[in-house]
Amino acid sequence: MMGRAHLIISTGVTLSVMGLTGIPVTLPAAAVAVISSLLPDIDEPNSILVRTAIPTGLLRVLQLALVAGAIFIYYFGQDYAPWNLALAGLIAVVSFLPGRTLRHIVMFMIGLGLVQFGQSFSPWNTIAGCVLMISSLVSHRGLTHSLYAVLGWTLLLYFGTGGSAAGQSLWVAGGLSYGLHLAADMLTNRGIRPLPPLKFRIKFKLMSTGSKWGNIVENICIVLTLVLVWYVFLAS
Ligand SMILES: [Zn+2]
Repeated sequence: MMGRAHLIISTGVTLSVMGLTGIPVTLPAAAVAVISSLLPDIDEPNSILVRTAIPTGLLRVLQLALVAGAIFIYYFGQDYAPWNLALAGLIAVVSFLPGRTLRHIVMFMIGLGLVQFGQSFSPWNTIAGCVLMISSLVSHRGLTHSLYAVLGWTLLLYFGTGGSAAGQSLWVAGGLSYGLHLAADMLTNRGIRPLPPLKFRIKFKLMSTGSKWGNIVENICIVLTLVLVWYVFLAS
């Protein structure tokens, strides 16, 4: 499914369920629900979350910097020939990689940096760094679209908020919204593999993402979500 559909459906249904079951819908909980609705697609370099975190403009700056670095190394490293040429060539090749590959590399580097240098600030940097590095390496709809990921993300939020009463809103919002993203992807032809390395898929084959019929199914789900939100928060 498209990011926009995930954003509206996962967040809308999550907040509605919380409203119906009497769990306080706080602003931080709503923010966590929004992020969690998009988080499973972090392994897709063209997803909303990754495009926002690493915009195309930043990639262009990176490419320019790499080209400049390659020229610099070629000219000022001539004492080390032919290694200056080899290294400059390698950097030049990286700078001309397609955008999605570059995003993967940037994600991996940020993750590596967080693990390497962020540890002294907070254990969260290590966790976030590991998530980034792993998701830059795994294939789309691999590990991030499994039951382990739902469980891991929920436990991370649960223990991260110290299991407090205020934290309840957060881990319920995050776990539910993340799980609903996977549930929505189950409707597609590709489906998800809930328990890798087991090969079995859950797919209801109702739609394929990006197709005309797929857009209709997505829009129907969005309208149903909006009706639910209206019913829970406005009508009663
Ligand atoms: Zn997905």
